[in-house]
Formats: sequence, structure tokens, C-alpha cells
Amino acid sequence: MQDNEVRTRTIVAKFGGTSLAGAEQFKRVRDIIAEDPARRIIVASAPGKRRPDDEKVTDLLVKCHAAATAGRPFEAELEAVANRFREIVDALGLDFPLDGEIAALRGHLADAPQRDYVLSRGEYLNSRILAAYLGFTFVDPEWCVCFDEAGRLDAAMTRRTMNASLRPLKNAVVAGFYGADMKGNIHTFSRGGSDVTGSLVAAAIDADLYENWTDVSGLMAADPRIVDSPKTVKYVSYRELRTLSYMGASILHTDAVMPVADMGIPINIRNTFRPQDSGTVIVRKLPKGETKYPIIGVAGRAGMSVIQVEKLMVSDESGFTAVMLDILKNRRIPFEQCLTGIDTVTVVIRSDVLAPHKEALFAEIREKLNPDYLGLTENLSMIAVIGEKGTDSSDANVRVLQALADRGVPISTVNQGAGKLNLLIGVPEERYEEAIRTIYDTIGSRDWAQ
Ligand code: ASP
Repeated sequence: MQDNEVRTRTIVAKFGGTSLAGAEQFKRVRDIIAEDPARRIIVASAPGKRRPDDEKVTDLLVKCHAAATAGRPFEAELEAVANRFREIVDALGLDFPLDGEIAALRGHLADAPQRDYVLSRGEYLNSRILAAYLGFTFVDPEWCVCFDEAGRLDAAMTRRTMNASLRPLKNAVVAGFYGADMKGNIHTFSRGGSDVTGSLVAAAIDADLYENWTDVSGLMAADPRIVDSPKTVKYVSYRELRTLSYMGASILHTDAVMPVADMGIPINIRNTFRPQDSGTVIVRKLPKGETKYPIIGVAGRAGMSVIQVEKLMVSDESGFTAVMLDILKNRRIPFEQCLTGIDTVTVVIRSDVLAPHKEALFAEIREKLNPDYLGLTENLSMIAVIGEKGTDSSDANVRVLQALADRGVPISTVNQGAGKLNLLIGVPEERYEEAIRTIYDTIGSRDWAQ
């Protein structure tokens, strides 16, 4: 870049399936894009559900592929796919060669259908239509999202190729969800993977912002199925988001954070149906003054078991915990948490993971560790009270634990490492929802978005 060249601000805006489900939604998306000239690079999903009982185009394509592979007729499913796109193209008055595209897909299905290729056609067609509607250049990720032949993303090559493809363009629509290997075979990310494409695109061109447009106004501080209308969080750090996603909050594909996080590019979750809401901004470092209510939220996972091993004077035997963890490692049993106390080791494991190993594992622990006590507590839920700054303050922790005690919710484990990102609390499954509501009511939260 020349010294006197002014760098144009660039936003990569990814629109999800519900944001591009039909012609009405396309119009909203065009208005949103027109509102800020920095929204130059668009990443699009396949059409999602228009109503709760509707089917996503990708799900229809899964059915097409399953029928074709089993040698069953697939015409009805293919027609349903064609109709979704026809409705959009007709309502927007576009001159788009849809029949030819559908005929090509029909030919592929009848021949030797390749799953990832079939699934990718939802994004391919929707993005081409969106590009035609906006007057933007269509960029096929077949040429710039690079996979190896085993289907793994080649991040370095993607970055170079994507940068070279997009740099000369004023504006573009890139299809989400897929790419190709050197031989030209199409590979998709796992479901919901257009988020990943958006992140890769933003990182490759060093965008100023990655906007992820969806159908909610950002990250909620608790699960709305448990807490009535939880507040939306204004800022969240990448680390906090990772913990929230791990605990089950789904707002972004988990692989969508890394590419932009590495570059320090913020992600802004926005609502296509309420563009007036500022949404949630995901950042590396929280802006100063955003930590008045330092806890961002509460999330949890059911289906946990706790193994407790006790042996007097064990804290003097340095290898005891190591042997316990070795036993788990050799049996390839991943664990969620390991807490060591004076003469005790407690390990939290997912119940479904533990189930097939239970008897043999206990026999081995008895044999190798000869414990004074070996206990198992099942049907627990793990709750994470999350906040980079929140769990720094013992006041917040005390309030949370006190509130649970006041309601008589039994607490089976409490875990907070020196990293202090979260306070993890184990409670019986049947008290889980009550515990989440109690904690939510207690914590208050970081400056709510609205
Ligand atoms: N269309 C794909 C899916 O339904 C990918 C995406 O929407 O992100 O999973």
C-alpha cells in the first residue's frame, strides 16, 4: 500500500439461512448492505426456514442425495429445491439460468452423486442469485477455499488464494459452507459452516469487522428456554464465547472464531429482522468501562458424572493424580474437569462417555490406587458462570453460591482455576433449571445491549 493511499474500510457481512430464506428477506438484505458502503464482501448461506414448519434447502439436498444414492426417485425433493429458488428469482424479477443449473444437478444426482457436492449447491445457487440481485461479482469458493484430499481445510493456502481472488474486486458475494481440493472435489464444512467461510474471508482480507447477520439480536445471557426473555450481551470476549459455546450456547459455528480471533478482527452478531439493534460484539479485549457488571452470562450442560477417589495421606504421594489420569488416558476417556484436594481426586466425566467403561474403570482404579473410598455421583449438570472479570471478584462468586444455598439447591462440586474465566458448579440435574434461573436473577450482567 502506498503511503498516501487511504485504506477503504471493509466489512465482511455473512447472512445466514433465515436471512436469505426468500425474496422478502433478499430485499431486507439489500437494504442492509446499501446502508453502509463498507459492506463490500458478502458471504451467503443456502435458503433456510421461512416458517417454523418449513424445510431448509440444505436438508432438502440431503434428502435428494440419500434418495439418489439408494437408487430411489429424487425428483420430488429436487423439485422442492428448484421451487425455493424459482420463487426468489421470479419475485425479484431476475434473469437467472435456474433451469440449466437444476438440470446439471439432476444429471449429477443420476450419475454418481457426491454428497458434499450436492449439499454445496444450496449455497452456490443462493449466492449466485444474490450476486445477480446486488450487481456484485460472484466468487465461487471452489477456487479459493482450499481443502486437502482428506477433506481438511488448508488454512494457509485458503488465506493466500482468497486474498488474491478478493483483493482486485470492489464488491463480491462469496458462497459459504464449501471449498474444494486440488483435484476439484468439493468439500463442505460441518453443518452451519457458512460462519466459518465468513471468518476465513474476513481474516484473508484483514477486514475491519466481521458481521454475522442472523435471526437473533445477539448473544443472550442465559438460555431463553429456561430464563424468560434473557438480556442480550453487548460485548463478549473470544474466550468467554468459547466457554459459552462449549457449554451449549449456539450462536456461531465453533470453528468460526479462530480465523478472526487470530487477527483480532471483531465479530458483530446482528439481526436481519431488527437491524436497529446493535447486537453483540465479540472482541479480543473488552473495551474499558464495559465491565460494570462483569459476568456475561450463565450456561450449562446436563448428563455429567463425578468420580471421587479418596485415600488418606494421598497428598503426600505425588503420583496419585497422575496415575488416575493415566488410567483415563489409556482407556481414551476424556474428562471435563479434574479437582484435587487434600487426599482426594475428583473427576467430572460426561455420563454417556463413562457408561461403557464404568465397571472395568472402577476395577482398575481399585487395583492401581487402592483407595479408601471410591464414589460415583450421576445425573449432574455443570453450570458455568462466565465472565473474564466477573469471577475475579469473590463478591460475585459468594452471591451466586449464597443464592443457590438459600434456595436449597445442593452443590456437588465447585471449580474455579486461577484463570478465573468461569466458576463451574455441579448441581443435581433435576435442580438445573431452577439453579440457572436463580443465578441469572442474582448476577446482573455486563451493560446490556438494550
Ligand atoms: N446451509 C448449511 C447448513 O444448513 C450451511 C450454513 O447454513 O451455514 O448447515
